[in-house]
Amino acid sequence: MPSQREDCLFCSIVREGTYVRKEKGFVAIKDINPQAAVHLLVIPERHVDSFREIGEFPAREAKRMLEFVADTAHEAGLTDYKVQVNVGPSAGQTIFHLHWHIIGGGPHHAEVPGHAETAVVEL
Ligand code: AMP
Ligand code: ZN
Repeated sequence: MPSQREDCLFCSIVREGTYVRKEKGFVAIKDINPQAAVHLLVIPERHVDSFREIGEFPAREAKRMLEFVADTAHEAGLTDYKVQVNVGPSAGQTIFHLHWHIIGGGPHHAEVPGHAETAVVEL
């Protein structure tokens, strides 16, 4: 297993948590405090503190991680959803092990919570 931290909550969840999905190198779990009907977290086994250290992932592993995010959303029945990464405390990061939020309204909800119509600007 790649680098792990003894004192990291998400490292311990990766080792012995309850997953909705698992693949070599990655797990997906339900967020304990969901912000929407579907709120999952994708956590890589490799411990990096934040998205700032994304360069520590080998290219193949980084690509597989993004595919794992997309496949997890698809398996959860989502077509429209948000993928969010909070980077640093001022941006809302509270757990310092890289993770990807998948936030969706669920299969029967067209609207993703927090969605705002975006104006199309003619260039
Ligand atoms: P962030 O604020 O971007 O660092 O996201 C951390 C997320 O982890 C929050 O949405 C929390 O609700 C969630 N969380 C914290 N502890 C747990 C846990 N034990 N199991 C699942 N999700 C958790
Ligand atoms: Zn960790």
